[in-house]
Amino acid sequence: MAKVAFLGLGQMGTPMATRLVRAGHELTVWNRTPDRAKPLAAAGAIVAGSPAEAGAGAAFAITMLATPEALTEVVLGEHGLMKGFGPSQVYIDMSTVGPHTVRSIAARLPAGVAVVDAPVRGSVGQAADGRLEIFVGASDKDFERVRPILESLGSVGHVGGPGAGAAMKLIANLALGASVAALGEALALGEALGLGRAQLLDMLEGSQLGPVVRGKRANIESRHYPPNFKLRHAAKDLRLVIEAAAVVGRDLRLSAAAKAWLDAAVEGGAGDLDYSAVVATIVGEEPKA
Ligand code: NAP
Repeated sequence: MAKVAFLGLGQMGTPMATRLVRAGHELTVWNRTPDRAKPLAAAGAIVAGSPAEAGAGAAFAITMLATPEALTEVVLGEHGLMKGFGPSQVYIDMSTVGPHTVRSIAARLPAGVAVVDAPVRGSVGQAADGRLEIFVGASDKDFERVRPILESLGSVGHVGGPGAGAAMKLIANLALGASVAALGEALALGEALGLGRAQLLDMLEGSQLGPVVRGKRANIESRHYPPNFKLRHAAKDLRLVIEAAAVVGRDLRLSAAAKAWLDAAVEGGAGDLDYSAVVATIVGEEPKA
């Protein structure tokens, strides 16, 4: 078992860190809002006072943070993780931040620190059950080093060198954002043409949008959208998709349209609801928590 630091105890980080401590790792955790570390302390983790303190002496440090901006601050800031880090330590980022942030942080790490990107597909339930799908970008050697740690969290796939995991995760969330916006538009038009919601959802379950309908039908029908994956994070991911596309010269008009709907939902106050609340924005309803 290894000495592991875990930074970022949000909806995903808390169940992931809990699995690591239950697997027997010697876990030190840090979170910006210290109260959110209490369940981990109760489960046997040590709580650090800063990212630097968390990382000092750890064989592996894992980050699971909201945005590229938060990640950069926590890793490279004044009391950041890298202040306590040196050669032979391994840094694993599991947030969704895109390949350009991963590479820009990697370029600023102390010499000898190994860096791996390992973002995840799956949400809070899969995180608690150890059933996440983990997209790993790493050298072959670093992949073998991190594999035993990541296997406590889900199925581990080596998709390429550094940055490849972050790139694969953006593509997964391009599909997620475009399909949920398409579902909203399908309901908006169908209802305007006089069709009933249940009838439409029944038909759409058998369409290309079937998985999103099956996953989010209860939210849409109840108009309650308790967050598993917050809408503001889905909007952030579509921003990252568009930014990544601009860097490599691709024109993604469908992603831009999905981003516009998600941004409108955030502006309308749905940022902390589940991402599927964008359906309510598109059909013109008020979503509830
Ligand atoms: P979350 O519940 O919103 O938690 C966000 C975490 O980031 C919290 O620990 C928060 O700290 C921290 N944070 C935010 N801004 C910060 C800052 N400026 N400085 C330091 N810490 C900061 O998000 P989540 O659902 O766990 O998601 C985490 C990451 O995983 C995101 O990149 C998300 O896109 C990705 N993801 C989420 C899901 C999902 O289903 N939820 C699935 C796959 C991937 P506080 O507690 O202090 O606010």
